Amino acid sequence: MDNNKREREIQARRTLLIADDDEISGDILSSFFEDKYDILRAFNGKQALDIINSHIDTIDLVLLDIFMPELDGFAVLRERQNNSKIKKIPVIVMTGEGDVERECFKLGVNDFIKKPFSNPEIIIARVERMIELYEDRSIIKTVKVEKLTNLYSFDFFKKFCNQFDVAEPKVAKDLLSINITRFRLINELYGRDFSDEVLKNIASFLKEYVNKNKGFACHTGAGDFLLYTRHMEDLDSFIYELHEHLEKLVVPTSVHLHVGIYPNVDPKLDKDIVIGRAVSFAQSIQSDSDVYSIYDEKTEQKALFEEELINDFKKGLKNREFKVFYQPKYSIQGDKNTLSSCEALIRWIHPKHGMVSPGVFIPLFETNGFIQLLDRYVFEEVAKQQAIWKEKYGIYIPVSVNVSRVDVHNPNLEKEILEAVDSQHVPHDKFYLEITESAYSQDKQDILNLVNSLRDKGFLIEIDDFGSGYSSLNVMSELPFDVLKIDMVFMRKSDEYPMNKDIVKMILALCKHFNVTSVCEGVETEEHYKFLKENGCDVIQGYYFSKPLPVDDFSKLIEKEFGLC
Ligand code: C2E
Ligand code: CA
Ligand code: CA
Repeated sequence: MDNNKREREIQARRTLLIADDDEISGDILSSFFEDKYDILRAFNGKQALDIINSHIDTIDLVLLDIFMPELDGFAVLRERQNNSKIKKIPVIVMTGEGDVERECFKLGVNDFIKKPFSNPEIIIARVERMIELYEDRSIIKTVKVEKLTNLYSFDFFKKFCNQFDVAEPKVAKDLLSINITRFRLINELYGRDFSDEVLKNIASFLKEYVNKNKGFACHTGAGDFLLYTRHMEDLDSFIYELHEHLEKLVVPTSVHLHVGIYPNVDPKLDKDIVIGRAVSFAQSIQSDSDVYSIYDEKTEQKALFEEELINDFKKGLKNREFKVFYQPKYSIQGDKNTLSSCEALIRWIHPKHGMVSPGVFIPLFETNGFIQLLDRYVFEEVAKQQAIWKEKYGIYIPVSVNVSRVDVHNPNLEKEILEAVDSQHVPHDKFYLEITESAYSQDKQDILNLVNSLRDKGFLIEIDDFGSGYSSLNVMSELPFDVLKIDMVFMRKSDEYPMNKDIVKMILALCKHFNVTSVCEGVETEEHYKFLKENGCDVIQGYYFSKPLPVDDFSKLIEKEFGLC
């Protein structure tokens, strides 16, 4: 079936909005058009604007009364003048008074019809002519069909998607973003003519599919296509065939298909949003063995939440929404368990989402560079707090701060630590730096240089999450450090995997051998505590003693533990 025929099929009806507070006059107008048009009705200016905004791509013309309650027709026209999307819809004003016409013309009205309506044929003809004029104008402005693939241009694709929704409102439809990965490779290896042939071939495959299943396809550039079609019951076989087709066409094994699918599209959603989501789903596919990813609400919500956190970060930092919590560490080898130090753990008290855990935002900020700003903020907050405690209690409480795996590559890291600590006159040996073991496996030399330099200046280095990486024993023998923190997974899963306890025993023995302090984190139960004490663990951190505390509560704990209250 050719493009024109398909268009005609779905474009059989156009949509008119009649905005008139006089119900009878609106009914009369509707009766002129209802055979050939879909009619929407509004009874005041506000309603008219709401309907226009929610049907921006489907309304073909507005018949507007001027004198209406809430917002009058002039206000609607003014809004239209300021909104390029609404401006694309022609407006005919219905009026009984000649003196409003001049004002209306100034506001960009296209035509007038006189009230009361005396000659239906003339009114219908004027409306039809105006719609045709506008459609021709927009068609002249944009290319309708791409020459190479004979698929629709992006603008027309969207237009027809919306018209498809109107023509078949009850039929579920899917939107697919299809990406041929590393398409440039085809271009470079085989030249432009060959890659054009590949595009043409894929395009004709897609066209054949939409002819059969009904729908539209579009080529958006390089190896990217969009498809809008009746809900695909045969999704798996479609993808399989498309894949086979591509494999037949091209030899390089590194060229694959990534398809993002937005199933059962809500016709009320703006097509730009739907397309954006399908495209980002296609982009989110990491591995070549995965071919498609289907949009689902939960993943989308997560992505939106993360985007919100990224947008809110800088304001949050400025407004001091980030709060450092302190979790105590206890020495357990003496007669009495004593508070020996603590770990600084950041929380975000978000104005809308409440307390957000670092497990949510740290990985996010490690991907966009914000982590450096956040770590620096924590260093400064902690050093200031240590100075306050010194002033209040006469002692420096040792605090461990976390250094992100990304921040270890920050060339200014050492300078930033020194500035934070020295400006508050905190002794370096009261400021511990926790560096996760897996960071060392990623980049040995950077970390070795950093650790050596910081230790030379008196800072204490803790290896965090020990045992979680792939080369724990290498880390132990190659990296100079002062404290070793055994990953919490060993104790937490020790009931499930009894071998874990043997591993912990072995690590504790190694700590003794290397003469470094051992810390076990994530200790929650009396049984775990006893096991660790018996096997010589020096320090314990975990809910068994305390959760991370806000600064005021931690200050009270200091007072209690040191008999200062
Ligand atoms: P981590 O450094 O391994 O921190 C220990 C995590 O275990 C903390 O989670 C702590 O609240 C939690 N925890 C402590 N005791 C127990 C326990 O007995 N049971 C259980 N189930 N959990 C316990 P949190 O505060 O959510 O921090 C998660 C991770 O976020 C941290 O893991 C650390 O990698 C990162 N992080 C936290 N604060 C900062 C920071 O200021 N800077 C950087 N770069 N990373 C941070
Ligand atoms: Ca830590
Ligand atoms: Ca840890």
